[in-house]
Amino acid sequence: MKPAPFGHVRASTLDQAVETLVAEDGDAKVLAGGQSLVPLLAMRLAQPTTLVDLGGLRELDYIRDEGDHVEIGAMTRSRAVETSPLVATALPLLPAALRHVGHVTIRNRGTLGGSVAHADPAAEAPSVLRALDAEIIATGPGGRRTIAAADFFQGFLFSALEPDEILTAIRIPRQPAGTVVAVEEFARRHGDFALVAVLGAARLDPSGEIAEVRLSVAGAANTPLRADAAERLLTGQAPTPDVIAAAATAVAEATDPAADIHAPAEYRRHLAAVLTRRCLHRLFAHAERSAAA
Ligand SMILES: Cc1cc2nc3c(=O)[nH]c(=O)nc-3n(C[C@H](O)[C@H](O)[C@H](O)COP(=O)(O)OP(=O)(O)OC[C@H]3O[C@@H](n4cnc5c(N)ncnc54)[C@H](O)[C@@H]3O)c2cc1C
Repeated sequence: MKPAPFGHVRASTLDQAVETLVAEDGDAKVLAGGQSLVPLLAMRLAQPTTLVDLGGLRELDYIRDEGDHVEIGAMTRSRAVETSPLVATALPLLPAALRHVGHVTIRNRGTLGGSVAHADPAAEAPSVLRALDAEIIATGPGGRRTIAAADFFQGFLFSALEPDEILTAIRIPRQPAGTVVAVEEFARRHGDFALVAVLGAARLDPSGEIAEVRLSVAGAANTPLRADAAERLLTGQAPTPDVIAAAATAVAEATDPAADIHAPAEYRRHLAAVLTRRCLHRLFAHAERSAAA
């Protein structure tokens, strides 16, 4: 199929981009890397009057150390985030997750802001934002506002962004030294979206108990899921097989997967438990090694 006809505005300033969205009154769409939007246009699942192309807005392409957090401009390519030394040190969960996104060619074009704005519950970046309590900055006709990741993802491909707002940046709190990370996912083929992915970050205290753990799940509900009940179960405990098994059960119980052409709901719930167990075993094996070093 071919896309329905549309206009194209290559914005030269952020103000111009916002003004175009306002003028089109909800019928325009922002174009970032095009890796999700262009297929939707081609299948006529999206039929905007106008594409507001952010490709010329170099000011939205940056990764900045802000001390207690890292700020990433919306138009930063996923591959640039994945290979950033700052992100590797301050936010190790993010590159570990981005390595599972499609293929390198897709990550070379796709942007972090595009992946977050698209709000696909099976996507990795939104789950990282949930796990790390990130904030999303949106700019619209009324100026800038900050939205907690917990409030941003509201449904399948549905976020708190208004039709005349542009996601301009993402702020992610720097993770403490000694944080170890693991991402476990199951996809039918290399490069496919995960059926389910479990993402974790953790630290052990010197006695070997779990000082902090963050867990999120992609593909197991209509939004990325923060596994807070499992986090509470694990915190302050030694990571024994029984504790890990109880956490895996808690994660599976928290899921609310939909059945679709790729997998039945019950299969996704089962995967959530299996992948949580694997993720936690890997995390705590890493943590014990890093504590011993
Ligand atoms: C074959 C294939 C496999 C893939 N596999 C994966 C995968 O495994 N995991 C994964 O997470 N992703 C996957 N993707 C999607 C990929 O990561 C996309 O790059 C990403 O989802 C969208 O980023 P983009 O910059 O291309 O956004 P676009 O496609 O340009 O836009 C996506 C949506 O977000 C909106 N948007 C984009 N930027 C902004 C902004 N700054 N402000 C407001 N709205 C905005 C657009 O209007 C559109 O609705 C895959 C894509 C393909 C083609």
